[in-house]
Amino acid sequence: MPKPVVAIVGRPNVGKSTIFNRIVGERISIVEDIPGVTRDRIYSSAEWLSKEFNIIDTGGIEIGDAPFLAQIRHQAEIAIDEADVIVFIANGLEGVTSADEEVAKILYRSEKPVVLGINKVDNPEMRDQIYDFYALGFGEPYPISGSHGLGLGDLLDAVIANFPANQSEEYDDEIIKFSLIGRPNVGKSSLVNALLGEERVIVSDIAGTTRDAIDTMYKYDGREYVIIDTAGMRKKGKVYETTEKYSVLRALRAIERSDVVLVVLNAEEGIIEQDKKIAGYAHEAGKAVVIVVNKWDAIEKDEKTMKEFEEKIKAHFLFLNYAPIVYLSALTKKRTHTLIPMIDLASENHAMRVPTNVLNDVIMDAVAMNPAPADKGVRLKIYYVTQVAVKPPTFVVFVNEPELMHFSYERFLENRLREAFGFEGTPIKLIARARK
Ligand code: GDP
Ligand code: GDP
Repeated sequence: MPKPVVAIVGRPNVGKSTIFNRIVGERISIVEDIPGVTRDRIYSSAEWLSKEFNIIDTGGIEIGDAPFLAQIRHQAEIAIDEADVIVFIANGLEGVTSADEEVAKILYRSEKPVVLGINKVDNPEMRDQIYDFYALGFGEPYPISGSHGLGLGDLLDAVIANFPANQSEEYDDEIIKFSLIGRPNVGKSSLVNALLGEERVIVSDIAGTTRDAIDTMYKYDGREYVIIDTAGMRKKGKVYETTEKYSVLRALRAIERSDVVLVVLNAEEGIIEQDKKIAGYAHEAGKAVVIVVNKWDAIEKDEKTMKEFEEKIKAHFLFLNYAPIVYLSALTKKRTHTLIPMIDLASENHAMRVPTNVLNDVIMDAVAMNPAPADKGVRLKIYYVTQVAVKPPTFVVFVNEPELMHFSYERFLENRLREAFGFEGTPIKLIARARK
């Protein structure tokens, strides 16, 4: 089921990013651990009362040199375009300002539910000051304090109450959904055209009227696929659609709806920081990943070139060691036919279920061959392994003490699973849990 999306809007300095961070909590993103990647999260998953959703801090999306009012207007438009529920934040210390009214005017025009939070209400005596905010016309204002973490529970209850009733899955489970992500100009749209132009491809439907995407459905060898569009391929219309943060946001949304993510690189330009960041998001989302090196026609090659490029990729994308690499040219269509089989493979592995007995045989053999090292005299004992999920394959390892499962040993077990079962193209997850 697609997760509902919540967007935070409001003029600068009302506390949007403080509230965002509170709601998101201590979720550590591997993307943020990549050196050189700035800590500029504007999008994250979150949870309240076991309801999962995604949340956007629109304040983090700055539109070039747009003047103040234009800036907050664009941010409100983004919230309307992207969200199921909008959280509108004002500042209780300052009362209703004309900029708040400006935001309100844009939000009135949408049909999206709006929950109004009055921030910086740091103590109960201040609660009387929130009544003025009824004037904004969004019903009951919720007094909150982002910096003290007060009132957020009531606000989130109201947000959840406004989630769409049942968001049904957009496509059948058998349909392979994939997206192409990468910097502008790496050749994403050219590649989509090359794929759709292949002889045996039958394009059945191009949807394009909804807010979200221009998804393309097609059939190849009797199998159905959907290409999930991202900002890079979209016809650029609105001002904010050209901003980098916004295109990252679109890419993240596309990743989320995909089974397989094609990380497209430009052979001519090599790998830059932004590529790593984009690839990191795909990994983090637990999607199957295929790395596509496009524009392979445009570089001078000898017999070592491919090997060298592969080494570069391996060095830059350590966390994507499972992703197969395809070298091709969208322009000359050389080797584009190898891409769909690779998508199939990654997708199959992403959905693979391993029989429990076989799984345990492999793990027990691995443990017998290479027992976990003792830590302060205590040794990790593995009792039993079971696969609890697919997409990506997720395994719970029942042990004596979960803290004894160190990163290096976990990686050893992961490698053994990969050797035994393949899993090319998909991340796998191991979760250590104490046996009851
Ligand atoms: P944004 O521009 O809307 O994202 O606002 P920020 O989250 O960056 O916050 C702006 C300023 O308000 C910062 O100095 C915060 O420390 C402060 N702030 C945020 N929430 C609260 C709050 O609940 N109470 C008080 N007193 N200050 C807050
Ligand atoms: P996008 O922004 O990632 O969708 O990139 P486009 O598909 O718009 O391509 C950007 C530019 O790269 C265009 O001028 C394309 O003609 C060119 N291009 C795309 N693929 C290839 C390729 O395989 N080889 C070469 N030489 N140029 C390409």
